[in-house]
Amino acid sequence: MENCIFCKIVAGQLPASKVYEDDDMIVFKDIRPIAKIHLLAVPKQHFKLLSELNEERRALVGRMLEKIASNAPAFGLSEGYRLIINQGEEAGQSVPHLHIHILGGQKLGWE
Ligand code: 5GP
Ligand code: ZN
Repeated sequence: MENCIFCKIVAGQLPASKVYEDDDMIVFKDIRPIAKIHLLAVPKQHFKLLSELNEERRALVGRMLEKIASNAPAFGLSEGYRLIINQGEEAGQSVPHLHIHILGGQKLGWE
């Protein structure tokens, strides 16, 4: 989608520290990390919200979760990790392209 930062990263038009890519998604380092390891898993297809899931996207998100789990050790997250999906304004979603925050590399607090 035009003017979407994450679509531009997916298309290679903006740089990112990519750590993984397959047909469904890319995973790259968050530019403003809030944990020792802070990655973003971004589907190649543009949509904003989980409320926009259809059969195809449901399967896509399922595969993304599976791949995150199977690649966690390669990401340096064999001791555990946290996934966050911000949805909408009150959650602080600042990029309107669905993304899964992957946090870890340290003991995480909960506030
Ligand atoms: P949200 O607040 O929408 O859930 O998360 C968006 C995340 O994207 C933020 O953590 C922010 O730091 C990250 N981000 C925004 N723009 C860029 C960028 O151009 N490159 C990278 N690597 N991360 C970005
Ligand atoms: Zn997009």
